[in-house]
Amino acid sequence: MKKLLLTVVLAASLLRVDSLFAWGPKGHDVVAYIAEQHLTNRARKAIDKILDGQSIVYFSSWMDNIQNSPAWEGGYDKTKTWHYVNVDEGKTLDTMEREPKGDVLTATEASIAAIRSGNLSDSLMKDHLKMLVHMIGDMHCPMHAGRKTDLGGNQYKVRWFGEETNLHSVWDSKFIESYRKWSYTEWQQMLDRADKKERAAIAAGTPRDWTLETVDISKAVYAGTVEGANLSYQYLYDFGPLCEEQLLKAGYRLAALLNELFG
Ligand SMILES: [Zn+2]
Repeated sequence: MKKLLLTVVLAASLLRVDSLFAWGPKGHDVVAYIAEQHLTNRARKAIDKILDGQSIVYFSSWMDNIQNSPAWEGGYDKTKTWHYVNVDEGKTLDTMEREPKGDVLTATEASIAAIRSGNLSDSLMKDHLKMLVHMIGDMHCPMHAGRKTDLGGNQYKVRWFGEETNLHSVWDSKFIESYRKWSYTEWQQMLDRADKKERAAIAAGTPRDWTLETVDISKAVYAGTVEGANLSYQYLYDFGPLCEEQLLKAGYRLAALLNELFG
Protein backbone atom coordinates (compact mmCIF):
# COMPACT_ATOMS: atom_id res chain seq x y z
CA MET A 1 0.00 0.00 0.00
CA LYS A 2 2.77 2.35 0.98
CA LYS A 3 4.58 1.56 -2.25
CA LEU A 4 1.47 2.18 -4.32
CA LEU A 5 0.91 5.54 -2.65
CA LEU A 6 4.49 6.53 -3.38
CA THR A 7 4.03 5.59 -7.05
CA VAL A 8 0.85 7.67 -7.26
CA VAL A 9 2.53 10.65 -5.60
CA LEU A 10 5.52 10.35 -7.92
CA ALA A 11 3.31 10.13 -11.01
CA ALA A 12 1.32 13.17 -9.89
CA SER A 13 4.45 15.22 -9.30
CA LEU A 14 5.84 14.30 -12.72
CA LEU A 15 2.58 15.35 -14.33
CA ARG A 16 2.67 18.63 -12.50
CA VAL A 17 6.21 19.44 -13.62
CA ASP A 18 5.19 18.70 -17.17
CA SER A 19 2.23 21.04 -17.19
CA LEU A 20 3.88 24.19 -15.83
CA PHE A 21 4.01 27.29 -17.99
CA ALA A 22 5.60 30.75 -18.40
CA TRP A 23 9.40 31.12 -18.42
CA GLY A 24 8.92 28.02 -16.33
CA PRO A 25 9.77 28.17 -12.64
CA LYS A 26 13.47 27.86 -13.51
CA GLY A 27 13.52 31.04 -15.58
CA HIS A 28 11.60 33.02 -12.96
CA ASP A 29 13.83 31.74 -10.16
CA VAL A 30 16.97 32.72 -12.10
CA VAL A 31 15.64 36.23 -12.77
CA ALA A 32 14.57 36.77 -9.15
CA TYR A 33 17.81 35.36 -7.74
CA ILE A 34 19.96 37.58 -9.98
CA ALA A 35 17.86 40.57 -8.89
CA GLU A 36 18.24 39.63 -5.23
CA GLN A 37 22.04 39.86 -5.51
CA HIS A 38 21.78 43.53 -6.47
CA LEU A 39 19.26 44.92 -4.00
CA THR A 40 20.42 47.79 -1.84
CA ASN A 41 20.39 47.17 1.90
CA ARG A 42 17.43 49.48 2.29
CA ALA A 43 15.41 47.73 -0.42
CA ARG A 44 16.34 44.31 0.94
CA LYS A 45 15.12 45.26 4.41
CA ALA A 46 11.86 46.74 3.13
CA ILE A 47 11.16 43.70 0.94
CA ASP A 48 12.05 41.36 3.78
CA LYS A 49 9.39 43.02 5.90
CA ILE A 50 6.72 42.92 3.18
CA LEU A 51 7.40 39.23 2.41
CA ASP A 52 7.65 38.17 6.07
CA GLY A 53 11.29 37.17 5.66
CA GLN A 54 10.79 35.10 2.50
CA SER A 55 12.96 35.60 -0.57
CA ILE A 56 11.61 37.08 -3.82
CA VAL A 57 12.75 33.78 -5.38
CA TYR A 58 10.26 31.96 -3.15
CA PHE A 59 7.40 33.86 -4.81
CA SER A 60 8.74 34.15 -8.36
CA SER A 61 6.16 31.75 -9.88
CA TRP A 62 3.34 32.51 -7.48
CA MET A 63 1.48 34.50 -10.11
CA ASP A 64 1.28 31.47 -12.40
CA ASN A 65 -0.26 29.41 -9.63
CA ILE A 66 -3.02 31.79 -8.56
CA GLN A 67 -4.65 32.41 -11.93
CA ASN A 68 -7.75 30.41 -11.17
CA SER A 69 -8.22 31.44 -7.58
CA PRO A 70 -11.14 33.81 -6.99
CA ALA A 71 -10.02 34.43 -3.42
CA TRP A 72 -7.82 37.48 -3.96
CA GLU A 73 -9.05 40.92 -2.92
CA GLY A 74 -8.51 42.07 -6.47
CA GLY A 75 -9.75 38.76 -8.01
CA TYR A 76 -6.89 36.58 -9.23
CA ASP A 77 -8.94 35.52 -12.24
CA LYS A 78 -8.44 39.06 -13.53
CA THR A 79 -4.71 38.44 -13.82
CA LYS A 80 -4.81 35.77 -16.56
CA THR A 81 -3.83 38.14 -19.37
CA TRP A 82 -1.17 39.94 -17.33
CA HIS A 83 1.62 37.55 -18.32
CA TYR A 84 2.08 38.60 -21.94
CA VAL A 85 1.45 41.17 -24.65
CA ASN A 86 0.72 40.32 -28.29
CA VAL A 87 1.91 42.12 -31.41
CA ASP A 88 1.00 40.64 -34.79
CA GLU A 89 3.06 40.79 -37.95
CA GLY A 90 2.91 44.24 -39.53
CA LYS A 91 1.72 45.79 -36.24
CA THR A 92 3.48 47.65 -33.45
CA LEU A 93 2.73 47.90 -29.75
CA ASP A 94 0.90 51.15 -30.54
CA THR A 95 -1.18 49.93 -33.48
CA MET A 96 -1.99 46.50 -32.01
CA GLU A 97 -5.33 46.06 -30.27
CA ARG A 98 -4.44 45.33 -26.64
CA GLU A 99 -6.05 42.90 -24.16
CA PRO A 100 -9.06 44.72 -22.65
CA LYS A 101 -8.33 43.25 -19.20
CA GLY A 102 -4.70 44.35 -19.31
CA ASP A 103 -1.40 42.84 -20.43
CA VAL A 104 2.04 42.38 -18.92
CA LEU A 105 2.98 46.01 -19.60
CA THR A 106 -0.20 47.71 -18.37
CA ALA A 107 -0.31 45.42 -15.31
CA THR A 108 3.35 46.14 -14.51
CA GLU A 109 2.75 49.87 -14.80
CA ALA A 110 -0.36 49.52 -12.61
CA SER A 111 1.55 47.59 -9.92
CA ILE A 112 4.34 50.20 -9.92
CA ALA A 113 1.77 52.99 -9.56
CA ALA A 114 -0.05 51.10 -6.79
CA ILE A 115 3.18 50.55 -4.83
CA ARG A 116 4.18 54.21 -5.32
CA SER A 117 0.76 55.44 -4.13
CA GLY A 118 1.75 54.50 -0.59
CA ASN A 119 -1.79 53.61 0.46
CA LEU A 120 -1.89 49.85 -0.05
CA SER A 121 -2.88 47.42 2.68
CA ASP A 122 -0.08 45.08 3.79
CA SER A 123 -1.57 42.15 1.88
CA LEU A 124 -2.07 44.12 -1.36
CA MET A 125 1.47 45.50 -1.11
CA LYS A 126 2.72 41.93 -0.81
CA ASP A 127 0.65 40.84 -3.84
CA HIS A 128 1.83 43.71 -6.05
CA LEU A 129 5.45 43.03 -5.14
CA LYS A 130 5.09 39.30 -5.92
CA MET A 131 3.40 40.14 -9.23
CA LEU A 132 6.10 42.61 -10.20
CA VAL A 133 8.81 40.00 -9.60
CA HIS A 134 6.96 37.62 -11.93
CA MET A 135 5.88 40.09 -14.60
CA ILE A 136 9.35 41.57 -15.17
CA GLY A 137 10.44 37.99 -15.85
CA ASP A 138 7.59 37.26 -18.27
CA MET A 139 8.20 40.59 -20.00
CA HIS A 140 11.63 39.29 -21.08
CA CYS A 141 10.43 35.90 -22.33
CA PRO A 142 10.37 36.12 -26.16
CA MET A 143 7.10 34.28 -26.72
CA HIS A 144 5.35 36.45 -24.13
CA ALA A 145 5.51 39.21 -26.75
CA GLY A 146 4.56 36.98 -29.68
CA ARG A 147 1.73 37.15 -32.20
CA LYS A 148 -1.92 36.98 -31.21
CA THR A 149 -2.72 35.04 -34.42
CA ASP A 150 -0.90 31.98 -33.02
CA LEU A 151 -1.58 32.74 -29.34
CA GLY A 152 1.98 33.77 -28.54
CA GLY A 153 3.49 30.79 -30.34
CA ASN A 154 1.13 28.27 -28.68
CA GLN A 155 -0.19 27.32 -32.12
CA TYR A 156 3.21 27.53 -33.83
CA LYS A 157 3.97 23.82 -33.96
CA VAL A 158 7.54 22.59 -33.74
CA ARG A 159 9.29 19.49 -32.42
CA TRP A 160 11.81 19.65 -29.60
CA PHE A 161 14.38 16.85 -29.82
CA GLY A 162 11.72 14.86 -31.69
CA GLU A 163 8.82 15.54 -29.32
CA GLU A 164 5.78 17.43 -30.65
CA THR A 165 5.34 20.78 -28.95
CA ASN A 166 5.00 24.48 -29.80
CA LEU A 167 7.22 27.55 -29.86
CA HIS A 168 5.68 29.05 -26.70
CA SER A 169 6.44 25.96 -24.68
CA VAL A 170 9.99 25.77 -26.07
CA TRP A 171 10.72 29.29 -24.87
CA ASP A 172 8.90 29.01 -21.55
CA SER A 173 10.75 26.00 -20.28
CA LYS A 174 12.06 23.41 -22.75
CA PHE A 175 14.93 25.57 -24.00
CA ILE A 176 16.24 26.58 -20.60
CA GLU A 177 15.91 23.05 -19.18
CA SER A 178 17.75 21.49 -22.15
CA TYR A 179 20.42 24.15 -22.50
CA ARG A 180 21.99 23.80 -19.06
CA LYS A 181 21.47 21.42 -16.19
CA TRP A 182 22.20 24.19 -13.71
CA SER A 183 20.24 25.07 -10.57
CA TYR A 184 19.00 28.66 -10.38
CA THR A 185 21.93 29.58 -8.13
CA GLU A 186 24.37 28.11 -10.66
CA TRP A 187 22.68 30.06 -13.46
CA GLN A 188 23.23 33.22 -11.43
CA GLN A 189 26.88 32.36 -10.77
CA MET A 190 27.52 31.74 -14.46
CA LEU A 191 25.64 34.75 -15.88
CA ASP A 192 25.86 37.52 -13.30
CA ARG A 193 29.31 38.89 -14.10
CA ALA A 194 28.71 42.40 -15.40
CA ASP A 195 30.39 45.31 -13.60
CA LYS A 196 28.47 48.19 -12.07
CA LYS A 197 28.60 50.33 -15.19
CA GLU A 198 27.38 47.54 -17.45
CA ARG A 199 24.59 46.70 -15.02
CA ALA A 200 23.43 50.31 -15.00
CA ALA A 201 23.45 50.43 -18.80
CA ILE A 202 21.34 47.25 -19.01
CA ALA A 203 18.90 48.48 -16.35
CA ALA A 204 18.30 51.82 -18.09
CA GLY A 205 14.90 52.52 -19.61
CA THR A 206 11.33 51.76 -18.61
CA PRO A 207 9.09 48.67 -18.67
CA ARG A 208 7.70 50.00 -21.94
CA ASP A 209 11.21 50.14 -23.47
CA TRP A 210 11.90 46.59 -22.27
CA THR A 211 8.60 45.34 -23.72
CA LEU A 212 9.33 46.98 -27.08
CA GLU A 213 12.70 45.25 -27.07
CA THR A 214 11.09 41.85 -26.39
CA VAL A 215 8.61 42.44 -29.23
CA ASP A 216 11.59 42.85 -31.58
CA ILE A 217 13.26 39.78 -30.10
CA SER A 218 10.13 37.68 -30.60
CA LYS A 219 10.11 38.70 -34.29
CA ALA A 220 13.71 37.48 -34.56
CA VAL A 221 12.78 34.20 -32.86
CA TYR A 222 9.90 33.63 -35.32
CA ALA A 223 12.23 34.48 -38.21
CA GLY A 224 14.81 31.99 -36.91
CA THR A 225 12.35 29.14 -36.29
CA VAL A 226 10.90 27.17 -39.21
CA GLU A 227 7.36 26.04 -38.39
CA GLY A 228 7.19 22.25 -38.03
CA ALA A 229 10.98 21.91 -37.75
CA ASN A 230 12.64 19.52 -35.33
CA LEU A 231 14.63 21.87 -33.10
CA SER A 232 17.63 20.50 -31.26
CA TYR A 233 21.33 21.23 -30.68
CA GLN A 234 21.70 23.76 -33.50
CA TYR A 235 18.79 25.75 -32.06
CA LEU A 236 20.37 25.71 -28.59
CA TYR A 237 23.61 26.93 -30.16
CA ASP A 238 21.89 29.66 -32.18
CA PHE A 239 19.67 31.02 -29.42
CA GLY A 240 21.61 30.15 -26.24
CA PRO A 241 23.18 33.61 -25.95
CA LEU A 242 19.76 35.25 -26.38
CA CYS A 243 18.23 33.09 -23.65
CA GLU A 244 21.07 33.98 -21.26
CA GLU A 245 20.87 37.66 -22.14
CA GLN A 246 17.13 37.86 -21.50
CA LEU A 247 17.46 36.23 -18.07
CA LEU A 248 20.32 38.53 -17.10
CA LYS A 249 18.62 41.69 -18.35
CA ALA A 250 15.40 40.81 -16.54
CA GLY A 251 17.36 40.25 -13.30
CA TYR A 252 19.24 43.56 -13.45
CA ARG A 253 16.14 45.50 -14.44
CA LEU A 254 14.06 43.94 -11.67
CA ALA A 255 16.77 44.86 -9.15
CA ALA A 256 16.88 48.45 -10.39
CA LEU A 257 13.09 48.74 -10.24
CA LEU A 258 12.87 47.30 -6.73
CA ASN A 259 15.71 49.55 -5.53
CA GLU A 260 13.85 52.53 -6.94
CA LEU A 261 10.56 51.53 -5.29
CA PHE A 262 11.85 50.28 -1.94
CA GLY A 263 15.42 51.60 -1.60
ZN1 LIG B 1 3.65 34.15 -16.15
